[in-house]
Amino acid sequence: MSGLSRLVIASGNAGKLREIDAILAPLGIAIVPQSALGVGDAEEPHPTFLENALAKARHASAITGLPALADDSGICVRTLGGAPGVRSARHAGEPRSDARNNAKLVADLAGMSDRRAYYHCVMVLLRSADDPQPLVGEGTWAGEVIDVPRGEGGFGYDPHFLIPSLGLTVAQMAPEIKNRSSHRAIALAAIARRLREQD
Ligand code: IMP
Repeated sequence: MSGLSRLVIASGNAGKLREIDAILAPLGIAIVPQSALGVGDAEEPHPTFLENALAKARHASAITGLPALADDSGICVRTLGGAPGVRSARHAGEPRSDARNNAKLVADLAGMSDRRAYYHCVMVLLRSADDPQPLVGEGTWAGEVIDVPRGEGGFGYDPHFLIPSLGLTVAQMAPEIKNRSSHRAIALAAIARRLREQD
């Protein structure tokens, strides 16, 4: 992403940070987690991924004075009307726990044959806290929720999220494969494209 060599990332989620770093490092962009600059998590009270991502990016940029990239993402399950969606991180309440979130999702779907779901990600890049033209990228990755976890990689819902065309859960994939195909990779690629267009 031209013109931006250092970005603060508005997330404390280690899995997301690892993936964003793996995608941006080859483009010569160093990321700094907001926690390394003393920035705590922003509130995420909004009903849309877009509003939450914008709130997180603005919070990080306002405190650090740096350009900020935020990701708001989650898993949306068809038969649950898109839930847990924006509430994916807190699906089983506080304190946040991937294990409890996964157990609750499996219980939500007990007896249901339609397992279709998708990961969704909205990324927002702000060059400053009052940037009037945020860059926005969206990405979606379709799959199915399975009851029995498979694989050790990734984070969050990955052991229960099967990509039928590959016959693998996301937790069974090499990180390079996830980082080429994921909702997060697609959203970041869209932002990179927007930046190039503005050059
Ligand atoms: P956020 O921090 O509010 O954006 O919450 C994101 C939550 O969505 C994570 O805590 C995970 O539960 C879920 N999530 C988002 N992206 C992924 C992914 O790539 N794999 C698995 N779970 C994900």
